[in-house]
Amino acid sequence: MTEALFVINAGSSSIKFKLYGVAGGDLDLILGGAFDGIGSKPRLKVRDHDGATLVERSYETAEVPDAEAAQHAVSDWLIPHIGDLRIVGVGHRVVHGGPTYSHPVLVDDAVMKTLESFIPLAPLHQLSNLDPIRVLRQRRPDLPQVACFDTAFHRDHPELADRFPLPRELYDEGVRRYGFHGLSYEYVHGALAAVAPGVAAGRVVVAHLGSGASLCAIDGGRSIETTMSFTALDGIPMGTRTGSLDPGVVLHLIEQKGMSAAEVGHMLYYESGLLGLSGISNDARDLRASAAPEAAMALDFFALKVAQAIASLTVSLGRLDGLVFTAGIGENDADMRGQIVGRLGWTGLAVDDAANRAHARNIEAKGSAAPVFVIRTDEELMIARHTLRLLRQAAPVSGAVSGAAEAP
Ligand code: ADP
Repeated sequence: MTEALFVINAGSSSIKFKLYGVAGGDLDLILGGAFDGIGSKPRLKVRDHDGATLVERSYETAEVPDAEAAQHAVSDWLIPHIGDLRIVGVGHRVVHGGPTYSHPVLVDDAVMKTLESFIPLAPLHQLSNLDPIRVLRQRRPDLPQVACFDTAFHRDHPELADRFPLPRELYDEGVRRYGFHGLSYEYVHGALAAVAPGVAAGRVVVAHLGSGASLCAIDGGRSIETTMSFTALDGIPMGTRTGSLDPGVVLHLIEQKGMSAAEVGHMLYYESGLLGLSGISNDARDLRASAAPEAAMALDFFALKVAQAIASLTVSLGRLDGLVFTAGIGENDADMRGQIVGRLGWTGLAVDDAANRAHARNIEAKGSAAPVFVIRTDEELMIARHTLRLLRQAAPVSGAVSGAAEAP
């Protein structure tokens, strides 16, 4: 019977999942999918490892009213489709490991309690992430579950990267620069080490430019500093999020415009960034395709802020041995990569136009001050790897992990 691992990335309106076969030390993608539109237009879409559609169906909102119902719907589809696979564990993306976790952890009662105590640090995300863990623990208490944190990769960054210039007691209460996208940075750094070990051993900046976006300074595999901080709002502008903003603007919106905290929060998270700047779209593809000057300005603003972040992170590193682009925009938008590196021309960094257009792995021009890479990220595979490692540690003898004939 083939063993398999299930990976869940649960958000407030969607559950993304992947199923991997475990053969020896290898993880092979079997299928991946998403249940999205929870509470509005529920939809399940699953593709096999070649990208062929296995199912694409919509549900009535009343049929799948919440995340728990969506989890059951995924399970109902999965069970008849997993054949003789034996699911030996489930890995979860959990946004917050708080100040406590610098590594993934096998979930038990005490861990669950600790993770729940971090809900105030990321109310929407943490609740959504913990929900499937809780439901699965009730349904399948025998099934090992592993929590993998977006914050963990940054946990041992230096104190200067961990603090806000606020009264000390707030730091002690947990108001710190946690940083996110850690699973992506860890994966990308590993992939970089496979193709350019010398660079990965040195000082690199990774730019994770997706609809959520941040950058990280990594020294020999260790996160030194990152642009997101207490929440995933900080740093560079994103699809709909502001990135860093004068806190006085928030006070102005509340005190002068009479907006509630919830209204301000909605504006900062969902109405700003590329969408707010352009007034057109949060999607870089739409902005590239638009002839409107506002679209060009939004993209130029984004490129400027990313270039500034790279320069700033390079100060923390003391030197730049390599720059890596990843995630939706970083992997696919050659113009954006060109604009960003173009703004860093004074550093001696330069891209080769043909290589950049071809989305080659190395896109630096001859004579560039440092190599520039394009590396596809894979956060789910990182979660699967961590999960497998922890399961092996918990039960090193093959087959000793309590199995399951049933899907999660
Ligand atoms: P997330 O995982 O944060 O939702 P992704 O890493 O999948 O985001 O990135 C999604 C974003 O990437 C899209 O919103 C879009 O702006 C951008 N993107 C994807 N493909 C392209 C492309 N070919 N050109 C420009 N931008 C792209």
